[in-house]
Amino acid sequence: MAKRAVLYLRSSKDRHDVSVESQRRELQRYVSSCGDILVDEFIDKVESAKTANRPAFQDMMAEVKSKQCRFTIIYCYDTSRFSRRMYDAQLYKHLLKKNDIELVFLKLPKSDPLMDSVLESLMEIFDEFHSQKSKMDGLRGMRENVQQGWRAGGRAPVGYCLEKTVVGSRDGEPVTKSKLIPDPKSFYLIKEYLKGVVNGIARMHLVRELGIDIPKTSLIYIEEGALTYAGHTVWNRHNECVDGKYKGGNRYRDRKDWVIQRDTHEAMISDEEAEAILSKREEERASRKRRRISIYLLTGIVTCRCGANFIGEGGYYRCQKRCGNRGIKKDTLEQIFIEMLFQNLFSPENIEAVKNSIEKKSRKSASKKITKEEELRKKLKSIEKEINGIVDLIQKVKHKRSLLTKLDSLEEERVVIESQMDKVDRSSVPLAINVNSKDIICFMENYKKTFHQINIERKKSMLNNCVGSAILDGNLLIITPKYEVITGMKSSSKAVEKVIR
Ligand SMILES: [Zn+2]
Repeated sequence: MAKRAVLYLRSSKDRHDVSVESQRRELQRYVSSCGDILVDEFIDKVESAKTANRPAFQDMMAEVKSKQCRFTIIYCYDTSRFSRRMYDAQLYKHLLKKNDIELVFLKLPKSDPLMDSVLESLMEIFDEFHSQKSKMDGLRGMRENVQQGWRAGGRAPVGYCLEKTVVGSRDGEPVTKSKLIPDPKSFYLIKEYLKGVVNGIARMHLVRELGIDIPKTSLIYIEEGALTYAGHTVWNRHNECVDGKYKGGNRYRDRKDWVIQRDTHEAMISDEEAEAILSKREEERASRKRRRISIYLLTGIVTCRCGANFIGEGGYYRCQKRCGNRGIKKDTLEQIFIEMLFQNLFSPENIEAVKNSIEKKSRKSASKKITKEEELRKKLKSIEKEINGIVDLIQKVKHKRSLLTKLDSLEEERVVIESQMDKVDRSSVPLAINVNSKDIICFMENYKKTFHQINIERKKSMLNNCVGSAILDGNLLIITPKYEVITGMKSSSKAVEKVIR
């Protein structure tokens, strides 16, 4: 049966990238050779191949989740066009699968299907589906607003004020949207201040010099909004806030996730000046962070036999309560600890457990598919039986009208079930797979490699994720690992012990 298809086209201004036109040509040819019908296309033309700003992609994913989705299959030129990061790609595939949408790449990915299935089971654990979903819904409306030059909401930043315009009415009340215009009282003052910051003049000195009556934290906030003062509207800059705490402890998202609409209002400073202010703030923040972070990896992870924490101090780890348990050299404990953990992670029993767990999962989803098919087939059979009965009856009775109505509705039902069966058939529910131990080892080796490359804070959070408990009792180190987060599997982990000399 012909499917309703859309194309996702994306190209960057990089000279070597495949142009949108030639992607379209090749894909159109391919779609018609598959016998599918094109209903639309989504195009992102971006500045550089690395940018994360893909409005058309967001629109497409929003339609995927909507009840009025017009298509059942997406054609795309290659995997990197769909998503640059492996993890993101999995997330989107997951989302499409949940909505029964097929994804086809013209140039086949070089990925390993077994690796993909390992990642896929990880996905179920890390399921970011919901947060991703609500985020996209919110962003869409905001983006439309901003693209038309309106503010996405909120107060005017210091130096500007809001100019409201009535754009329509709802329930008799006027609907207003707003734009930023210079605030005659503070525009030039803030401009002077920002120019001073660019020129390396100390914050407090500027405050005195210019007679500014603004607290330091607000000044920092102004500096962090430098792009706004360069005349652009920036959104998606603040991180999600839950219970008064920012996700990941950072007020702002990564710069690459910001969405910037250029030249929406009068600028105080140039782009270069804004960049200078931002990188200065970045430096300030980094140096504060360096001072704050403890260099002791295992503080808060290893506990003493008396139940107190082992904490780092003067190159040693010691019991916080000084119960008499001996202290141990920082480097010695850290090295042994990590070695033990990875040795256990790579142990044959653990690999075997993960392997079994993945296979079990895939068998389960395969059998789910079969049950769904059977259920639909049964329904179809009973409807067909009913239809035949009514057809027989129609030939015998005089007043056929109500029977014909019933027949119509049964026919409709039959079509629906048939299309559901069609979907089950082509939804890419994995068949039961056999996982190779080598693939798992490869996956874990990757994990280990990553571990040695990241900073101490991330190392700490990784350890927190895979250590159930760790106790130091005299010379004896006892670690009970938990590997769910690494492997996605709830394999029970036995404690491992080692005597430290
Ligand atoms: Zn103790």
